[in-house]
Amino acid sequence: MKQSIREEKILKVIKERKAISRLELAEIFDLTPARISKIIKSLLDKEIILEKDVGVSTGGRPPVILTINEKIFGDVLGLNLAPKNIFLTVGQINGEIRKRKKYSLDKIQDEDILNFIEKLISNSLASEKKIGVITIIITGFVNHEKGISIMSPHYKWRNLNIVKHLEDKFHIPVLLEHDVRAMALTEQQIGACKGINNFVIFNICEGIGTSTCIDGNVYRGFNSMAGEMGHIVINTSSIRKCSCGKRGCLEAESSNTAIINRITSDIKIGKYSMLKDILSKKGYLDINDILLGVKKRDFLAIQVTSEAVEYIAQGLNILVSIIDPEKIILVGDIFTSKFLMDTLKFELNKFSLEFQKCIIEPTKLGDELFYYAPIAVVIKSIFENKKFTKKYITKLGGSYDFN
Ligand SMILES: [Zn+2]
Repeated sequence: MKQSIREEKILKVIKERKAISRLELAEIFDLTPARISKIIKSLLDKEIILEKDVGVSTGGRPPVILTINEKIFGDVLGLNLAPKNIFLTVGQINGEIRKRKKYSLDKIQDEDILNFIEKLISNSLASEKKIGVITIIITGFVNHEKGISIMSPHYKWRNLNIVKHLEDKFHIPVLLEHDVRAMALTEQQIGACKGINNFVIFNICEGIGTSTCIDGNVYRGFNSMAGEMGHIVINTSSIRKCSCGKRGCLEAESSNTAIINRITSDIKIGKYSMLKDILSKKGYLDINDILLGVKKRDFLAIQVTSEAVEYIAQGLNILVSIIDPEKIILVGDIFTSKFLMDTLKFELNKFSLEFQKCIIEPTKLGDELFYYAPIAVVIKSIFENKKFTKKYITKLGGSYDFN
């Protein structure tokens, strides 16, 4: 095996294990102690790794532990664009977050979003001097490798090369990732999917999307469009039109938008609901109003959300049958309702086979799922994406001369 390829493989293992001895590395790669010591010396000379503390002795001299030299990586500036908010993070690749800030997108027009992002980056670079990478997380169809937003219904972008645009402007390496895939990386690094190789994230907000991790890696698909679970037709007799043009898609039956639209139009045609007052006062309903209705046992809110949950259960049943994951993590406001979670479990019990043992549970990370995600994307890309790693390290004066 070429020396540079072997060094990169060893770096990935040191990163994943966080701390490891030469002996353990020699065993993993089936190399002699002399051979592994030579490779480690080369990595120490490049200052990509460090010798740290001593490990536990098993009789002889205690082993020296090797770790990644985090100092050669600059801080991460993350902008996570959810449909209604931007979550801004400044943190380090050791997972420490120094700054968290949430900006509402309510008053920002779609065409101004890119300007707003650029303003947030400029302000952050002026106040934070150690930023070495920017991560942008967006919804829609995303090509992570090429850094392109193929299509984003929320910001009305089409084939926008965000990475090139921002790198040309700010001269800092930029990473782009899809929102639900970034959630998968986050759950894998700090959430309920640590150490789990096969799992699915099921996200409901204005739309519905999933991200699947197979054998430890996020699956992207041939066109980088895997996981569009929201557009499987789940109700063939439905007249409700989906944003994609089809009728009866899961998204058109069960997304926040679908639930809100149904309840709003039912109230407008005269159906009784305690939410009528809120609708008259505010002029619109949001998902928190609906969940309040569910909590107060409003008949219409319970009827519509329960139907939505029945379709979600059908969708989850399809996922379990195709992927056979160990866990499915649910993300979305509706999963914070105990009543709706109980309904979901009841519906799932109708479908699941006794031997399909998959844990289905809501995320426990809350907003941290959005704040940590940009860091998770960077950690995943280090040593995996060679071009990016080189740019990231050399930006701060380090060297990463792998050919
Ligand atoms: Zn659709």
